[in-house]
Amino acid sequence: MFKIKQVFLKVAILLLPVFFHAATACGQVKIVQRPLSDKCSRPRDKDKPVTHLMIHFCSVCTEQPQNPYDLNAICRVFEDYGVSAHYLIGRDGTVYQLVDENRVTYHAGKGKLPFPPYLENSFNGSSIGIELMGIGTQKEMAVFMDAEAYARIAKSDIGFTEEQYASLKQLIADIQKRHPEIKTDRQHIVGHDEYAPTRKTDPGSLFDWKKIGL
Ligand SMILES: [Zn+2]
Repeated sequence: MFKIKQVFLKVAILLLPVFFHAATACGQVKIVQRPLSDKCSRPRDKDKPVTHLMIHFCSVCTEQPQNPYDLNAICRVFEDYGVSAHYLIGRDGTVYQLVDENRVTYHAGKGKLPFPPYLENSFNGSSIGIELMGIGTQKEMAVFMDAEAYARIAKSDIGFTEEQYASLKQLIADIQKRHPEIKTDRQHIVGHDEYAPTRKTDPGSLFDWKKIGL
């Protein structure tokens, strides 16, 4: 019995570095495939490199204030409206890939960066879109719901989680390996509210850019 225990311990010690290496080697960020149908995106133009990245928030808080982060319901909204983003980060930090990076997603819509290259009404073609499951302040959500409906949302569902910031930071670094023109600065990594300030409030004032090093 003692011998068996000893052998088991030896094997476990020998395998430990293997497990550790496997966990840290695969790009740190674990990605779960959750593909949307192709009608929500289109192939990229070969002459247009990916130069920008946009952060968004999304939820189904208007339909399900008590369960605003229902993955299937969120994806159904994307499908129903024919819109999309490449990635969606859950509250626990899980990264879902909705669309392959070699396709253009419909996440930015009409707008213009407040600085060159502006990308007026053409942001999608040069970018990656990342959605975070999140909800803004009452003022930021006022276009979707009144104060009474907003009050039904749990406080813990407002804003973003530490797990999301950690995954987002790793995901951005991972994306930059494939698209080095996305520089780590606020000219290349922007919020939807900066591109379309008259229409959009996401990711909004609760999103802490410092937590992803920006
Ligand atoms: Zn958005």
